Amino acid sequence: MKHIDSRILGIGAVIVVLAFIPILAGNFTVSLFNDIGIGALVALGLVLLTGIGGVTSFGQAAFVGIAAYTSAWLTTVYDLSPWISLFAALLLTGLSALAIGMLTLRLGGHFLALSTIAWGLSITIVFGNIDALGRHTGLSNIPPLFIGNWSLASPHLMFYMIWILVGLALLFSHNLLNSRPGRAMRGLRGGSTLLASVGANAYSVRLTLFITAALLAGIAGWLYAHTYRFVSPSPFDVRASIEYLLMAVAGGLGHLVGALVGSAIVLLLKNGLQDVLPLLTQQAGQLDAIVFAGLFIALLHFARSGLMGFVARWRSRHKRTGSTPVIHRAPAKPLPNRQLPQRGTPVLSVKGAVKRFGGLVAVDHVSFNVNAGEIVGLIGPNGAGKSTMFNLLTCTLPMTSGQVRFLNHDLAGMAQRKVARLGLARTFQHVKLRPHMSLLDNVALGAHSRCHAGVLRAGLRLDRAEEAQILHEAYRQLERIGLSDRAHELAGSLPLGTQRILEIARALAADPVLLVLDEPAAGLRRKEKIALGELLQKLRSEGVTILIVEHDMDFVMKLVDRLVVMNFGAKLLEGLPSAVRADERVQAAYLGSVV
Ligand code: ADP
Ligand code: MG
Repeated sequence: MKHIDSRILGIGAVIVVLAFIPILAGNFTVSLFNDIGIGALVALGLVLLTGIGGVTSFGQAAFVGIAAYTSAWLTTVYDLSPWISLFAALLLTGLSALAIGMLTLRLGGHFLALSTIAWGLSITIVFGNIDALGRHTGLSNIPPLFIGNWSLASPHLMFYMIWILVGLALLFSHNLLNSRPGRAMRGLRGGSTLLASVGANAYSVRLTLFITAALLAGIAGWLYAHTYRFVSPSPFDVRASIEYLLMAVAGGLGHLVGALVGSAIVLLLKNGLQDVLPLLTQQAGQLDAIVFAGLFIALLHFARSGLMGFVARWRSRHKRTGSTPVIHRAPAKPLPNRQLPQRGTPVLSVKGAVKRFGGLVAVDHVSFNVNAGEIVGLIGPNGAGKSTMFNLLTCTLPMTSGQVRFLNHDLAGMAQRKVARLGLARTFQHVKLRPHMSLLDNVALGAHSRCHAGVLRAGLRLDRAEEAQILHEAYRQLERIGLSDRAHELAGSLPLGTQRILEIARALAADPVLLVLDEPAAGLRRKEKIALGELLQKLRSEGVTILIVEHDMDFVMKLVDRLVVMNFGAKLLEGLPSAVRADERVQAAYLGSVV
């Protein structure tokens, strides 16, 4: 509670200080703060896009430009009210982001960054060559904003407008990150397979994030046009985009407030340099850029997590230890559950599954069935093809040939996320958790496909009832695995074995029909294994069907109803644990070691 109180106090103090600036400060300072506010809006989009989503954009200033030009053009040529042109500006910015995003976001790493540079370069060329937009001289005499008959022409009044919007944008982004769509965005860095395993589409999550960031830049552009009342191409070129990126990095890509802090650092520094450098040399104009480049490189070397990264580290070092955070568990209606199939009816049927990796046949004509309410074990020596088999039946990898049916659906060629949405939840041999998200958030990500809230609903906090249901479900699953008292710790702080168990909780949050577990007991101590065995048996008694790969033979033999044994990609045999244990071929496959 104390932690929250101090945060609210801090925010309150900042608001009070800001409110007094236009009263106490002169024109120059107020204008500087206006620039910082406008920069912070763009940088906030970049913190979300680059910091949270891992997408680097060198074209953000182009979105600022599109909105600024749209509003400038509509209010000067057509005399439209700036409040109406705001909608047009945001619409055009959003549509451009949609188009650019669809063209570029499927490209990987460097290619994506390069294409945003191309986009950033081309848009300023477009502005500079259209007669109606005033070519390189731009558009002037843009009207100021007004509220009723009250004009906001003075920078002192614009200050309040800008900073209220900055505050609202921060609040919106904060709400967004702590919601269903926000968790998916924070999951992006875990890769598309992780998101698909909870039924989310990484591409559309990334596209939504790209548009959200562009709209924040759009609001900044609209404010820019009606603050300066003049637009020309150069403030929206690639150099400006790099400056916005620099703001986000300097403040701290991992923190929303970093956008504000970074914008202040960069603009104050820029102003400072413009004052100091002319005293030292006559070529101050060019030196400016060189000093900036030097600072940027130093920043990447020494403070990659930005100023807010320092603050966060300092705070965690000075936090009093031993005090567990108070866990708020809002009472909520449980999420609706899936109808589980009748015990004994077929759930999964694999027929003649083949997977080739070049010349290697990793899975070679494997067939088996799993019925509702069973625990089936898939065993075999290392490299037998068990994990590949799991990847085929969850559609994580495309099958070379063969057939998989799950609850009357043919899975051939189906997207992984669609399979997940049908009720097939999985864990991974190599854990796919988000180490910097809390245990609770990691598990809540599992419930993604059971809910619907989108960006707008989440940002405006209209999703709270659903969000409470998700968190309630996540707590319930954490309780099941005995980790509910550590709900707010970071998943990365858990030992690897426990992280596997956390993945099971995430899979359970999806309310699965079939649970597919790849070596869940690896790295667990004896007691933890016993607890895991009990949990899986309890799930079976509740009607959940389980398919499990496990190397600990004692554990598997006691747990499962049936075993399928694989060796060199092919199925060796299938049967009851006792029969498998006695089979000579199995003993030979394991070289008589553990079975
Ligand atoms: P298991 O899980 O039974 O230990 P795997 O399914 O991981 O076995 O691997 C089966 C075989 O397929 C191994 O020889 C492995 O090297 C190969 N393999 C697995 N994944 C790939 C891949 N993505 N590309 C190429 N070969 C792979
Ligand atoms: Mg494996």
